[in-house]
Amino acid sequence: MQFDTLVIGAGVAGLMSALELRDRGQRVLVIGSPHAPPASWAGGGILSPLFPWRYPDALLPLTSGAFSAYEHWAHRIAEVGGISPELAAGGMRVWDDVGADELAVWSQRSGMVAQWDMTPYGGMASPSIWMPDVGRIRNPRLLKGLRHLVKATLDIVLVDAHVQSFHSDERGVFARTEHEDFRADRALIAAGAWSDRFLPDDGKPYVFPVKGQMLMYRVPEGGLTSVLLTPNGYLIPRSSGLVLVGSTVEPGLSDSLPTHEAMDRLKTVASQLLPPSTRGAELVAQWAGVRPGSRRPVPWIGSVPEYGGRVWLNSGHFRNGLVCAPASARLVAQLMTGVAPFCNPEPYAPLLSSSSSSP
Ligand SMILES: Cc1cc2nc3c(=O)[nH]c(=O)nc-3n(C[C@H](O)[C@H](O)[C@H](O)COP(=O)(O)OP(=O)(O)OC[C@H]3O[C@@H](n4cnc5c(N)ncnc54)[C@H](O)[C@@H]3O)c2cc1C
Repeated sequence: MQFDTLVIGAGVAGLMSALELRDRGQRVLVIGSPHAPPASWAGGGILSPLFPWRYPDALLPLTSGAFSAYEHWAHRIAEVGGISPELAAGGMRVWDDVGADELAVWSQRSGMVAQWDMTPYGGMASPSIWMPDVGRIRNPRLLKGLRHLVKATLDIVLVDAHVQSFHSDERGVFARTEHEDFRADRALIAAGAWSDRFLPDDGKPYVFPVKGQMLMYRVPEGGLTSVLLTPNGYLIPRSSGLVLVGSTVEPGLSDSLPTHEAMDRLKTVASQLLPPSTRGAELVAQWAGVRPGSRRPVPWIGSVPEYGGRVWLNSGHFRNGLVCAPASARLVAQLMTGVAPFCNPEPYAPLLSSSSSSP
C-alpha cells in the first residue's frame, strides 16, 4: 500500500495526528514500538499545565480548549464502540506563592478562572487557588480508545513494530522494522522521549527522557472530586474510588522501573494531601513512564528544516502532552496539508541545528 505519511509513534501525539491527517485526506501508516511504552499510558491526565501561570503565553493556544476538544474525541471514540476515556470536570485546587496581581493578570490573559480561596482545605493551613474549569482524562483508556478509533478508520494502518532505522531522500522516507520495510512520501516523528533518534544528531537534542513515577490508592468513593496540586506533588481522582499520586521528575532516565525512593516521596505527598474522608486509603499500584522533555517550555511542532519538508515533528510536550495533544495534532496536520493553521505556529517551529534554542 502506498502511504502519504508515515507516523512514528503510537502515543497520544502519534495517534491523534494520524487521525487529523486522515481527516484531511491523507493515507497514513502509524508504527508504534512494543519495546517503548508510551508516556501517554503512564501519565496522570490533568487537562491543564501544572501552575499554568509559570508558562509563556505561547502555550495557551495548545492548552485552552483542551476540555471541549476531548469532548469531541470522546464522542468520536464512542461512535465506533470504543472505551470511554472518562473525561471528567471537577476543577483543580492549587497551593502556590504566585502574587495576587500576577494571578489576576494571567487569568484575564488566558480566559481561565483562577480565584483565591481563603478557607482552609483538608490539612492545608494556607489559602489555595481554585480553578473550577480544569478537567481530567483517564489516559490509559484514552489510548485504548484512540487505538480502537484508528483501527476502525479507513486509510490508516497501525503496525506494532520497532523502527530500527530510518532515512529520507528525494524519493521519500524509509523505515526498517524487525519484520518489514516501509516507505511513504513524508514522515511525522511523534516518538515521545525517543524522537531524537529520527532527527539530525547535532549534539543539541530536541527531546530527552524525563522519567516520572506515580502511585495509585484505593479510597472510599467520593472522597476526592478535584485535582489537588502543591509544589511537592498532586492528587488526581479517578472513577471507582481510585486516586493517583504524582509525580517524580527524573531527567535523563529512560527506564520504566518503579523505585523505593519514589514510593517513599509520593507516600509523603499522599499523607499531606489525602482528605480525612479517605482515611484507610490502600496503596494498590506504582508505575513509571518516560516523558518527552524539551530544552524549551513549548513543544516542537512543524517541519524539521534539515529534511526539506519530508520530515515533521510533533513532540517535546514534557509534562503537558495530554492537555496539548488535541491542539498539537490539529496544528501539525494543518501545517502538513497546507491548511491555514488555527494559531501562529512560529513559537513551536523546529530549529535549524545552528540556531539558538530560545522559544
Ligand atoms: C508520570 C507522568 C504524569 C504525567 N501527567 C500528565 C498530566 O497530568 N497531563 C498532561 O498533559 N501530561 C502529563 N504527562 C505527560 C504526557 O504523558 C506526555 O507528554 C505525553 O503522553 C507524550 O505523548 P507522546 O505521544 O509524545 O509520547 P509517548 O506517549 O511516549 O509515545 C511515544 C510513542 O513512540 C513510540 N516509539 C518510540 N521509539 C520507537 C521506535 N523506534 N519505533 C516505533 N515506535 C517508537 C513508542 O512506542 C510510543 O508509542 C505525564 C507523564 C508522566 C510520565
